[in-house]
Amino acid sequence: MGTGVELSDLHRNAVLATFDSDRLDRLLPHIQIDFSPIGHVAQRAGNPLSHIHFPLDSVYSVLAESEHGAGIEVGTVGSEGLVGIAGHLGARNSRQTVVCWCAGDTAYVPVAEFLQVTTEGGPWHDAIDRFTDYLLIQTAQNVLCTSAHSVRARLARWLLAAHDRYDCQQFSSTQESLSQMLGVQRPTISDTAARMQREGLIIYRRGNIEIVDRVALRQIACECYRVVHQALTAVRDAGRPS
Ligand SMILES: [Zn+2]
Repeated sequence: MGTGVELSDLHRNAVLATFDSDRLDRLLPHIQIDFSPIGHVAQRAGNPLSHIHFPLDSVYSVLAESEHGAGIEVGTVGSEGLVGIAGHLGARNSRQTVVCWCAGDTAYVPVAEFLQVTTEGGPWHDAIDRFTDYLLIQTAQNVLCTSAHSVRARLARWLLAAHDRYDCQQFSSTQESLSQMLGVQRPTISDTAARMQREGLIIYRRGNIEIVDRVALRQIACECYRVVHQALTAVRDAGRPS
């Protein structure tokens, strides 16, 4: 068994929770759990994909990046899924850069060991398929959101999702991280957040945002908030024992 790794820890992740005891016994010697601080890079685009990461209560942001380093969030991954789905699909290198934005524990296992124990079909394949579908929904919705919705509506969407998606005690909402998540310049984030603060919707303090008027933010947020939230609820409910 991996040092200090308990089964109850692993069951906090919806995909690992579908593994039977035999499979977990085979996986345990290779699993480690670490605390992921904000900014921890699980994968970098183009680099060899060495490990699959399973957030236990951390949350990661999947970023598409240009050659010049500009990035935009194309999806988020929490305890409902895994970071490194490309490894499961046979890729050797990471497709995107994946960065932690909500600090918490993460379990990780070498790709080779993960593939060995998941070659046979079972409930884990259904869980991975459900999560892959959820990631595709997020990606499609984010393309629509970026091209069709205002920065104000998108910021409201992001803040609501960050606030209610996870029991996240410590998450990154600095202008720099928001600018990267939403793919807009920092002054645009600054102006938009300042207006929301004047309207009494949020408090912007020491680079972090606190929600004051959730109902009003809900009215401002674009429909993408509801679509992705429903998809997340569905993937979580499907993984729960009936
Ligand atoms: Zn939108």
